[in-house]
Amino acid sequence: MERLQKIIASAGITSRRKAEKLIEDGKVQVNGETVTELGKKADAAKDTILVDGVPLQKESPVYYVLYKPSGVISSAKDEAGRKTVVDYIDTDKRVYPVGRLDYDTSGIIILTNDGEFANTLMHPKYQVEKAYLAKVEGIPSRQLIKKLQNGIVIDDQKTAPAFAKVRKTDQRKGTSLVELVIHEGRNRQVRKMFDAIGHPVIKLRRERYGILDTKGLNAGEYRELKPHEVKKLR
Ligand code: URA
Repeated sequence: MERLQKIIASAGITSRRKAEKLIEDGKVQVNGETVTELGKKADAAKDTILVDGVPLQKESPVYYVLYKPSGVISSAKDEAGRKTVVDYIDTDKRVYPVGRLDYDTSGIIILTNDGEFANTLMHPKYQVEKAYLAKVEGIPSRQLIKKLQNGIVIDDQKTAPAFAKVRKTDQRKGTSLVELVIHEGRNRQVRKMFDAIGHPVIKLRRERYGILDTKGLNAGEYRELKPHEVKKLR
């Protein structure tokens, strides 16, 4: 017996948080009865579980890494019909992205149908290192780079210590390439950190997510994760 939200998330339909919402919204039935309380347990093998009227079937898990191009939405569906990261993956499984990259951000993003895996990676306590390369306006001073490293207040909360380094400067254009490695995943965190030091981001790319980088991939290309990569990230 397992908690219902865990069974739903493990089946690859959605994250555990969204599974809880489905339960609370009365969209989940166990053996013909609607369940709305979150503590309820069920047996995935024996009970008939319906989500939105559709029987829950466990899909075999799949894991992909996509080099997301800029100008693509990183959710499974877009109300306005714009292209999403899922459109790049040739699969009949219900994959969705682990976390988010902004519409204008390019770079590494994982897609999977394994809700537990996605949940673990997104949990704040599970500190996946994310490396970004940002093209920013101006040339940040050493003191400002130190501020990024030590933590800076965005949305009323200080960021955790980070790695930051100016990689290249273009004096003529007045721009710089700055590498920033963070462990947190707050909303638009990198852009806000650079805004906070007065050097707004012009272009942003995520170069690394934990052990995964863009090596061998061009923007718009993806590959399956190798079993040892899944194991290491877990
Ligand atoms: N930080 C941002 O500001 N944007 C992203 O897409 C990712 C991290």
